[in-house]
Amino acid sequence: MAIAEQLAQIHERIQQALTKRPSGCVIAPDVTLIAVSKAKPAADIRAAFQAGQRHFGENYLQEALGKQTELSDLAIQWHFIGPIQSNKTQPIAQHFAWVHGVDRLKIAQRLNDAREGMDAPLNICLQVNISGEDSKSGIEPDQLASLAQAVQSMPNLRLRGLMAIPDPSLSTEALRLQFSQMRTLFNQLKQQGYALDTLSMGMSNDYTEAILEGATMVRIGSAIFGERNKTTQT
Ligand SMILES: *Cc1c(COP(=O)(O)O)cnc(C)c1O
Repeated sequence: MAIAEQLAQIHERIQQALTKRPSGCVIAPDVTLIAVSKAKPAADIRAAFQAGQRHFGENYLQEALGKQTELSDLAIQWHFIGPIQSNKTQPIAQHFAWVHGVDRLKIAQRLNDAREGMDAPLNICLQVNISGEDSKSGIEPDQLASLAQAVQSMPNLRLRGLMAIPDPSLSTEALRLQFSQMRTLFNQLKQQGYALDTLSMGMSNDYTEAILEGATMVRIGSAIFGERNKTTQT
């Protein structure tokens, strides 16, 4: 199916999920779709843009920078959603509007320093290790409050919310539970006074469940652009 048709179908499914959301799970009226274009050519991004898509997510810095150059005529909102190496914080802070995977103070400090002098602060989501696995990235839930406080105090960062990648092998019920735990963490921070508006969770295979539990941003790749070939980019 063409990219425009896939996008239309996803928007339809998002709307359906929004109408089925329990009222206690509503954080925002709408969901923002991030089209995850990693491992896909600039031409695919252009096709999606022409179909109305504005937010794009990339995981690999070098690959993203190349596509950004090719697509510099388009008003795209770029989201960095991959793991962040500390030696790449400078270009990430300068070439993206959003960073979703912040899970360490040192990374936040480096992004803040690198964003100095730019027009707008860098939008930040803190990645939470909701699955409890040692190998996964993300901050532990009990460390979240102190990281949020530190990021909140950084002038060139704007703390927008939380992000998570649950274990894809989970059952639907277990997934729903992890997404709902994310909503709880989000609401706790809001009650502590943080002006958060973003809960970034849900991918091609689980975005319906994520929306039912309150996601405000979903990050969808293969359901828009097709399966990716396995690559070893950095
Ligand atoms: C690749 C990726 C996605 C999109 O995954 P799909 O399963 O292709 O939708 C979303 N979020 C993150 C952090 C990713 O790395």
